[in-house]
Amino acid sequence: MPSKTDKAPRGRKPAAEDERKDRVIQTRVPKDLESTLKEAAEQKRMTVSHLIRNVLEDTFNLVDGIVADSSALVEHVTRDARKLAATARGETPSKPLTPAKQGGALASQLLDSVDAWQDVIVNKPGQCIECGKDLSRGERAFRGLTSSAEIPAVWLCNNCISTL
Ligand SMILES: [Zn+2]
Repeated sequence: MPSKTDKAPRGRKPAAEDERKDRVIQTRVPKDLESTLKEAAEQKRMTVSHLIRNVLEDTFNLVDGIVADSSALVEHVTRDARKLAATARGETPSKPLTPAKQGGALASQLLDSVDAWQDVIVNKPGQCIECGKDLSRGERAFRGLTSSAEIPAVWLCNNCISTL
């Protein structure tokens, strides 16, 4: 049966020749994401479809070439974050590695997880995570407090606490 919709399915304008070659991907989004997208599109004076397309293109151009090795990416980002944190603390990258630090990522990860240092007297012997100094019973040292239950005890000796 002939109708007006024959040439323009579902009442849409026929797409331009090059646009019609593009593929359509449909996705369900929550209502508030939809309104966010609509607002953002309005602000940029583009259609929601165009906005999403731009976002997707930006995202995949950015990660082009490293998507295949996401573990390397994570490692890279972690290393950069650590460098930034070190810079923020006023450390220089040329600072020689202390024995404890030669272990590498773990020590630094443990240090990052510490929320605060508590001035305590050692009972169970431990080791300064920064310089590797042995901490024996009765000695004054600093115990890292953390909100994470999986983090093992982290200690700093008297000297290292003053370089924080
Ligand atoms: Zn120390």
